[in-house]
Amino acid sequence: MYKKNGAVLVLSGPSGAGKSSLLKEIIEDIGECYFSISTTTRPIRGNEVDGIHYNFTTVEEFKKEIEADNFLEYATVHGNYYGTSLKPVREALNNGKLVLFDIDVQGNTAVNNRLGDITTSVFITPPTLSELKKRLEARSTDSQEVMTDRLKMAKREVQRISEYDYLVINDNLKVAADVLRQIAITARIKIPTDKINEFVQQWEDIEQ
Ligand code: ADP
Ligand code: 5GP
Repeated sequence: MYKKNGAVLVLSGPSGAGKSSLLKEIIEDIGECYFSISTTTRPIRGNEVDGIHYNFTTVEEFKKEIEADNFLEYATVHGNYYGTSLKPVREALNNGKLVLFDIDVQGNTAVNNRLGDITTSVFITPPTLSELKKRLEARSTDSQEVMTDRLKMAKREVQRISEYDYLVINDNLKVAADVLRQIAITARIKIPTDKINEFVQQWEDIEQ
């Protein structure tokens, strides 16, 4: 009865929360997905690949894209621009895919304003700030200065957990992955308002 619908799953949470690790655990089990690659003006890091982790660009180019209205949302994080391009997201949604975003709390607000009726949002965090610190230290991809900055930002982001549909506490990886898997599967069957209206219309026609 329903046409194939695309849906959106927003993942937010401090860097080091385990978003990538959890996604790796569940990605084979949640059907056809499109992981949105953001555009950013921040400098590329050692282990990153342009076009895979981010589309890296200049401030000038980024501003041109803002003016052309190419972004679904964009924000400034740590003094750099980050944005989600609208076109590939629209294509993926039209193909019935679950679109995954790794974006910050500002991005979550913007996506909910524009695509709220097909969006499910999840905030992911380790059980405590000190555990987050331990994991960032163990991952050892950041300088001391960047790490201090990330921990400060994490404290601010955690204050906004209530803006999300779900909170996943990533203590034991397998347990948290089980929860996220269920959320992702359910996110896909969220029905947008226009589809509900369509269904009600059809349902009444069938009865007559
Ligand atoms: P994010 O993508 O949110 O920045 P990562 O997936 O890179 O986070 O995880 C940060 C670090 O924490 C990585 O070194 C990862 O192996 C580790 N990690 C992730 N989940 C857990 C967990 N449940 N317990 C212990 N370490 C974890
Ligand atoms: P990082 O520089 O560590 O990769 O990312 C910094 C922060 O920017 C993270 O919280 C990440 O979720 C967020 N981010 C990445 N891409 C986007 C985006 O396209 N839009 C928004 N609003 N935030 C983003």
